[in-house]
Amino acid sequence: MAPIVFIKDFQNHVDEEVTIQGWMFNKRGSGKIYFLEVRDGTGVAQGVVFKPAVGEDVFKKADELTMESSVKVTGKVTKHPKLENTFELQVTGIEIVQLVKENYPIAKKGHGIDFLLENRHLWLRSRKQRAIQIIRNTIINAIYEYLNTNNFIKIDSPILTPNACEGTTELFEMDYFDVGKAYLSQSGQLYLEAAIFSVGRCFDFGPVFRAEKSKTRRHLTEFWMMDAEAAFVEHEENMKIQEGLIAFVVKKVLENHLPELAILERDIEPLKKIEAPFIRKTHAEAVKELQEMGSDIKENDDLGGDDETILTKKYDKPIFVEKYPAEVKAFYMKRDPNNPKVVLCADMLAPEGYGEIIGGSQREDDYDVLLGRIQEHNLPLKAFQWYLDLRKYGSVPHSGFGIGLERLVGWICGRKHIRETIPFPRTINRIYP
Ligand code: ATP
Repeated sequence: MAPIVFIKDFQNHVDEEVTIQGWMFNKRGSGKIYFLEVRDGTGVAQGVVFKPAVGEDVFKKADELTMESSVKVTGKVTKHPKLENTFELQVTGIEIVQLVKENYPIAKKGHGIDFLLENRHLWLRSRKQRAIQIIRNTIINAIYEYLNTNNFIKIDSPILTPNACEGTTELFEMDYFDVGKAYLSQSGQLYLEAAIFSVGRCFDFGPVFRAEKSKTRRHLTEFWMMDAEAAFVEHEENMKIQEGLIAFVVKKVLENHLPELAILERDIEPLKKIEAPFIRKTHAEAVKELQEMGSDIKENDDLGGDDETILTKKYDKPIFVEKYPAEVKAFYMKRDPNNPKVVLCADMLAPEGYGEIIGGSQREDDYDVLLGRIQEHNLPLKAFQWYLDLRKYGSVPHSGFGIGLERLVGWICGRKHIRETIPFPRTINRIYP
């Protein structure tokens, strides 16, 4: 058998006989000639099966092949007669690995979203879904690369936790042997705060869980979060790290994925504009602007989903909305010394109507102040004793942020709903497949 190659490497094998292994994606032709479209995970190749050249046996196999049948196809790689950078396979042999006998449930024509989600295990194979996963992989690697080169060490935070990060009730709860209750983590932040005293700067990347009953295009119950935390970094520098990171990620995607972005019909012009510095507004400024645009948001309200949508449609760069009223933010955020009613936090909102992709803040580093906040929020002191300890032994100013991977992928890939950006989405009414 000819050497097995990946379709993405065809340009290195022009005029050589090779074998590809994959699945039937499409088939055209009849009579004397078939054009087989075969995908192998790395790309899609067109195989030309010409009856007088291949003979009866091979042609019969081409005739039999159905959608999604698995197959090994051998042939000579040639340059496409008209299209630049496109290659074809002049087929000489076909080995059917499994012939699909039933009609493949996902046709090329439009299906409803419920049907597609019910068949997510098959939907993942489609061109657009593959493109999203390929870009997601690059985004993950770009985040690692940026953080590693900026001296952040990967620290894995636990998924089973004894207490809530923000003390909310929106957690998945379970019985934990004789110890009592345990919860699925909603963020690794507090643990990273401990780790900075060991490694200085660190990040985690893993699944987190939210039991809140949010049924929006921006919410999943299980999603992947990257938390970063850094010692001796204050609010301003925290934002600089974030805009550097996001600009780097977008640049990597543009460098590597123009074909995938084209498959997704993503307009890349807005992505080309993503360069630091991003836009900054205080919460008070954002509220005023939103009110002028017709929102009924009040002075001390958190920004709602609709607010984020209208605000971010107005700008072509991400916006940091900083310094929220303390009452709508978490207990661990440090107050602004110039205005103790607000905290040194910033949410990064992605443009084009996408909305929040990052939440970050400087953390309270004073033992007594933090103790007071824990008490004000009625949080169980015992559960937070270890967290308070961090303010006892060499406390330093420090800051961090959390990126929701699916929201980042959703924005970059231009998807309306983030459920398409994770391989197997979990929402409040779906946990299958
Ligand atoms: P929101 O107000 O939009 O529900 P949040 O303020 O609860 O988000 P954080 O706790 O700050 O979000 O989490 C950090 C990041 O994680 C968010 O900026 C977002 O990108 C992502 N995120 C939060 N909740 C979800 C969710 N349910 N599904 C997907 N991503 C989420």
